Amino acid sequence: MSQKFDRIVVVGGGSAGWMTAAVLATGLKGRATVELVEAEDVGIIGVGEATLPGIRNFNQSLGIDEAEFLRATNGSFKLGIRFCDWLEVGQDYFHTFGPLGNLSGSQALWGQHRRVKQDGPLGLQCVPTVMAMKGRFKRPDERSQFNYAYHFDATQYVAFLRRLAMQRGARHTVGHIVDVPRRADGGVAALQLADGRRIEGDLFIDCSGFRSLLLGGALAEPFVDFSHWLPVDAAWACPCERSGEEILPYTVATALEGGWAWRIPLQNRTGHGHVFSSRFIDVERARDQLMARLDGKALAEPRLLRFTTGHRRRFWVHNVVAIGLSSGFLEPLESTSIYLIQDGIGRLMAALLAGRPLSDSDRATFNIGSTRRYERTRDFVIQHYCLTRRRDSELWRHVSTMELPETLAFKLELWRRFGVLHAYDEECADANSWLAIHAGMEHWPDREDPVLAEISRERAQQALQGRRAAIAASVEHMPAHHVLLKQVLS
Ligand SMILES: Cc1cc2nc3c(=O)[nH]c(=O)nc-3n(C[C@H](O)[C@H](O)[C@H](O)COP(=O)(O)OP(=O)(O)OC[C@H]3O[C@@H](n4cnc5c(N)ncnc54)[C@H](O)[C@@H]3O)c2cc1C
Repeated sequence: MSQKFDRIVVVGGGSAGWMTAAVLATGLKGRATVELVEAEDVGIIGVGEATLPGIRNFNQSLGIDEAEFLRATNGSFKLGIRFCDWLEVGQDYFHTFGPLGNLSGSQALWGQHRRVKQDGPLGLQCVPTVMAMKGRFKRPDERSQFNYAYHFDATQYVAFLRRLAMQRGARHTVGHIVDVPRRADGGVAALQLADGRRIEGDLFIDCSGFRSLLLGGALAEPFVDFSHWLPVDAAWACPCERSGEEILPYTVATALEGGWAWRIPLQNRTGHGHVFSSRFIDVERARDQLMARLDGKALAEPRLLRFTTGHRRRFWVHNVVAIGLSSGFLEPLESTSIYLIQDGIGRLMAALLAGRPLSDSDRATFNIGSTRRYERTRDFVIQHYCLTRRRDSELWRHVSTMELPETLAFKLELWRRFGVLHAYDEECADANSWLAIHAGMEHWPDREDPVLAEISRERAQQALQGRRAAIAASVEHMPAHHVLLKQVLS
């Protein structure tokens, strides 16, 4: 059935709501009204401090100045994630946003690296990894092959986007939704607020967080549960004072007994959290483990958040489109939630800008694309767990022996048997990212690419050593991250 969208109502004022409102108010000016409704007495989730490089395009598409954004959100630059204790306790590796190097492609490089038994991790052949290890940062120029993202204060980002969306014409209505009246065709007619007001609309964007007021609540769309593969279901979060001048340009994710801990450096504080599975560790023990890891004075009481990994079966039903936590959540290991929000907004805008009434085909296209995106992202996150050699607790024994989704099992098999990094459509992570995790988890193919035999060991060794030395020398001249950040902010 076709449908018009003159009046768009966004439900919820967290990151998902204000990111959506900012884009719609900017992109649909003169074509539709955008009104955002949020309750004052229901807080936003307020975590979500680490991002992927796509956030840069998102901000740029809204015309946001980088320095202004970093000032407003206490932001810092992020080159990637350092994973500690994931393969086994005491081992670590980096996943940064850049190719691991190129002799004749990244895959040839790992082959050569193993063949000549080059000392040190493969990351030493990767510019952003060496920058991260040394605490340096420089923005990439036209010739650079790496990318970067940000860490920021999620609450301040929401306030920043709210100002921007309202400057661009979005209306802001504060009120607690108590009922969601329906239309005869099953769609949503309006939002009933506690004070008696009724907000009508043609299209409703559900950004109401884990409550999923419209899609999961009013429309009762079922939930597809991923917790067999991603069993974490809770997190303790606690910010602490920053110690020392240095601000590391990367997130740290440390595997623990029943989950993993994040460390996210901002200008004014350090974000800490412990994501865990309450099936495998007691909630209070998880809290104690987090508090023991703080590297500064706690700035608040630790906060407990609970969730289930997975997504709603459909994302767009009738005239309701869910974006953000109302549509699903994987877990924050690879900072993919804000990325999935951007992806959802992009798909929605493509449908709205097509210049015709919305149809069943728009909904189907959106739902198929979003489902695939969630499944690909799920597989990438599972890759970090299932390749572990850890067997020291129940969680690690579970994830190392569990049956994998077929899509991931096929991918891992292709890599192990043939050294092929297979990519499906709608991937969230490119071949460099998959390779970084394979390399970090020492998960290598059984056979060597025969092409490598054409290059002598000596030549390969020289090439690897030369590249490693050139990268080390170039990084040596780069400023420390906190020094560059200060310059950008001044
Ligand atoms: C532990 C944890 C760590 C995370 N870390 C990261 C990370 O590092 N990187 C990343 O990308 N993402 C991360 N995320 C995810 C990220 O926080 C969210 O994707 C993002 O903040 C979007 O949240 P949201 O806007 O969907 O929901 P929320 O922030 O929960 O907003 C919900 C909104 O709905 C409104 N609302 C609810 N009920 C009503 C009602 N009855 N009437 C009116 N309004 C209502 C609320 O007032 C609020 O404004 C993390 C999530 C968790 C749980």
